[in-house]
Amino acid sequence: MQSNPLDPAAIVAPAAAQKPVRYNTAAIQQLDAAHYLHPFTDPKDLAARGARVMVRGEGIYVWDSEGRRLLDGMAGLWCVNVGYGRKRIADAVYAQMMQLHFYNSFFQTTNVPAVELAALLVEISPPQFNHVFYTGSGSEGNDTVVRMVRRYWDLQGCKQRHVIISRHNAYHGSTMAGASLSGMAAMHEQGGLPIPGIVHIGQPYYLEGGKGKTPEQFGLEAASWLEDKILEIGPDQVAAFIGEPVQGAGGVIIPPPTYWPEIQRICDKYGILLVADEVICGFGRLGAWFGSERMGIRPDLMTFAKGVTSGYIPLGGVLVGDRVADALIQDGGEFNHGFTYSGHPVACAAALENIRIIREEKLVEQVRDDTGPYLKQEFEALVAHPLVGSADACGFVAGLNLVRAKGETVFDAVPFAPELGVGMICRGHMFDNGMIMRAVGDRMIIAPPLIMTRAQIDEMVALIGSCLDQTLADLQARNLL
Ligand SMILES: *Cc1c(COP(=O)(O)O)cnc(C)c1O
Repeated sequence: MQSNPLDPAAIVAPAAAQKPVRYNTAAIQQLDAAHYLHPFTDPKDLAARGARVMVRGEGIYVWDSEGRRLLDGMAGLWCVNVGYGRKRIADAVYAQMMQLHFYNSFFQTTNVPAVELAALLVEISPPQFNHVFYTGSGSEGNDTVVRMVRRYWDLQGCKQRHVIISRHNAYHGSTMAGASLSGMAAMHEQGGLPIPGIVHIGQPYYLEGGKGKTPEQFGLEAASWLEDKILEIGPDQVAAFIGEPVQGAGGVIIPPPTYWPEIQRICDKYGILLVADEVICGFGRLGAWFGSERMGIRPDLMTFAKGVTSGYIPLGGVLVGDRVADALIQDGGEFNHGFTYSGHPVACAAALENIRIIREEKLVEQVRDDTGPYLKQEFEALVAHPLVGSADACGFVAGLNLVRAKGETVFDAVPFAPELGVGMICRGHMFDNGMIMRAVGDRMIIAPPLIMTRAQIDEMVALIGSCLDQTLADLQARNLL
C-alpha cells in the first residue's frame, strides 16, 4: 500500500495499528528535507545526510525511527531535567487544557497556574526575588532583560545608562537582542548584529587564557576585564552585565571559583545591574536551584527557560529582583512590553508539575551531594584516554577537549587543525553507538537529565570511552593523528 512518499499519510507504515510502531524513515527524511528548515542547520548538508528521526523518549533514553536507543547525554537541548515520559506532567497539561487552555494576562486578567507558578518560583529562588515576568522562551527572556534594564535606568533619571556588557562566546538566544547579547561571531555576521549598546569582554576560559597562572589568578584577571570595559565606556553609561553562571552552548566553560565573586564586587562598585542567564544553569543543573547560588552571586535579574518545564511545553521568563521590581512598580506606570503567551496557563501547569517532581525526588540535592560529584569523578577520569587533553565538570554539565597529542601540562597539548572537524567525527561515532554528546569545535560536552543514577553514569562514561576508542582508531585509519 506504498503511496506517494511525500504524502504525510505515508510517514507511518501501515503496521501502525500494531506495536511497535514502524516508521518509513526515508519518507520522513524526504519530507523533512522538502519542507522543514531546521534551526542552526545547513539545509543542503542535512538533506544529503537525512535527518535522524526521533520518535520516543523514556527516562534518560530516546529512540529513533529505526528502533535504535540512544542515551541522551544532552537532555534534549539542556532542558529535559526530569527525563522523558513523565505522565504526571502530561496529565497536568491535559487537565489544564480541558479547564482553560488559554487566556491572556494583558487585560487586567490572570490565570491560576501563572499565579501559582510565580509564587513557587519566588519560593525556590534567592530572597531578593519576589516577582516574575513570563515569556515563551529564553531568547524572549533576554529581550525582556534588555527592555527592563533600560527601563530601570530611565526611571532612575539615567537615560544615558544603556550599555549592556556581555562576553565573547556567550549564548543568550537567537532573537535580535538575544543574538546581540550572545558573543558568537558567526551569529553577528548574519544580520548586522549586535544591536547598538551591547558590547563584549573576554570569557573566563582557563584553558584559553590561563597559561602560567593559577585558576584563581586567572579568574580575577578575567573579571578585571569587566572593570576595564566599564572604565573605557564610562561608568555612567553602563546599565548591566549579563552572563551565564557556566557558559553552555559556548562549550561548557566553567569559570574559576574567584571569577563570579569578583564580578559581583565590580558590579556593586559601579552600581550596575547584574543579570544571570539561568536558562541552562537553573532548576538544579549545577546542584542548586539556580547557578548563581552555586557561584555565590546575588543577581538583580535571572533569565530562565529550558529546565523550568523540562521541555514538556515551551516557557521562559525573568525573575525580577526587588531593586528593579520596586522601580517598575512604584514609579514605572505601564511597561510597554509583553507577549500573547506571557503566563500561558498550560505552560505554567507543566512547570508547576515539573518543579514539584524536582522537589519530591530531591533532584537538586541528589546532583549536589551524590550524582554530581560522582559524575565529576568518573567523567574527569576520561583524561586518561589518549585523545583527551582535559576534562572537567560542574554539577550535571561536563566537557572534554580532544587533542592530537598531550603535553607537559594541559596548556601544552597539541590541538587538531579545526578544519579536520574532529569533534564532529567523534560526535558521529557517539551517535552511531547510542550516545548523544554535543561537539563544540573539538570540545565534547554533556548535560544529562538530572535523574541519572550512578549506574547510568557508569554506563554513560563507559560508552563515551568506547566511542573515544573508535574515534581514535578512525583518526589513525585516516592518517589524521
Ligand atoms: C538556550 C538558551 C537561551 C535561549 O533560549 P531559547 O528558549 O532557545 O530562546 C538563552 N540563554 C541560554 C544560556 C541558553 O542556553
